[in-house]
Amino acid sequence: MIVSGMLLTDPDRPPAPGWLRIHDGRIAELHETGDRPPDDQQHVGGPNRLIVPGFIDAHNHPPQFDVIGCDGLSLLEWLDRVVYPVEIWWGRGAAAQMMRHAISAMLSQGTVGFAGLFTSHGQSAHEAVNQILRRPRLRALVGRIAMDRNAPDALTAEDHWRANHTPRPSVTLPDAENDRVGISVNPRFAPACSEELLAETGWFLQENPGAFLQTHLAETGPECELVKTLFPEDRDYTSVYDRFGLLTPRSLLAHCVQLTDPEWDLIAERGSVVVHCPTANHFLGAGLFNFDAVREREIRFALGSDIAAGPDVSMPRVACAMIDTTKMRQATVAPHAHIPTPAEAWRQITEGNADALGWTDSGRLRTNAWADLLLLRVPESWYDEFLVGRLIYNWSPAIIEHRIVAGDLADPATI
Ligand SMILES: [Zn+2]
Repeated sequence: MIVSGMLLTDPDRPPAPGWLRIHDGRIAELHETGDRPPDDQQHVGGPNRLIVPGFIDAHNHPPQFDVIGCDGLSLLEWLDRVVYPVEIWWGRGAAAQMMRHAISAMLSQGTVGFAGLFTSHGQSAHEAVNQILRRPRLRALVGRIAMDRNAPDALTAEDHWRANHTPRPSVTLPDAENDRVGISVNPRFAPACSEELLAETGWFLQENPGAFLQTHLAETGPECELVKTLFPEDRDYTSVYDRFGLLTPRSLLAHCVQLTDPEWDLIAERGSVVVHCPTANHFLGAGLFNFDAVREREIRFALGSDIAAGPDVSMPRVACAMIDTTKMRQATVAPHAHIPTPAEAWRQITEGNADALGWTDSGRLRTNAWADLLLLRVPESWYDEFLVGRLIYNWSPAIIEHRIVAGDLADPATI
């Protein structure tokens, strides 16, 4: 297939007229010359279409797409009253259908890859992975959640059962991995995990150095207080994870709103990835993320929707929320705060998030990269120096004319 139009290969430069050829799911040729493409193949696009990489969401929860917007609760209340009930429902046979709903919602907003956490139910995780492996084959890093305390029995039972079996069954689903889907280990967060479960996860990571870990860290103040009472021996929340060997360059740590300087230093030293989820932090009133702490220490960074703590599936709107957060910090507590440009934010939700997930062949318009693209139809007046800002601040799925995932045209309405 040939795709032609204006290629946005670098958000810091104006788009250039050109075309690309897709073969075997990847970009086989890329021409930024304005030459006419060959006309002997299937062709989409046209001179006034904008071709951009599809978006990547570095943190969300597929079981929670149906509980977006349940407002008015603190994090711990919201988990008890909204999240745990819907995760129990997912584990009772609804996983396949809910996964399809999540894929459709993401694709509708132009998200073509994601890192997500399921629930603690192993069988449901298999069913969800099987849905992701079907067309449109979003790229994914996913896995079951591990949790064994401070939650309903229906969510902790499986890890209790595992703890009673020697040798324990693997905490991952290695047989499902392929070139589009990777499997991660996901201790939910320290308050829901016993020391034994965290230790088991650490052993697993030591034996499988290629494995990714996804978890939550220091989202709200009351959560951090709870961690202090549950792990009184540890210096702080981040040290709990470090004691069990959970901070590796493949660890994705969602939130990190309430960290102290020594914790930021420790994360920098371990090379782990901080996943900022600004819309979720606003929704749950968690606080203003300190983007400067990340920049000063050159901490690896990603951006996530955190559906359903975050109410917005659209990654361009999550990118706007990141910019808004830094503006709010600058106006209140940090007059010298760095404010990311729209181009920085755009780069983050495409190749930046891809790099954080180890997907160096996703999130960009390059030869040999996966052909995960969007064809946009935008007003001619947008083609000026503010193009990328206009795109993220005016974002609507209505401007997407075509979605291309792993080289195939994909329609969210048919999922
Ligand atoms: Zn989350």
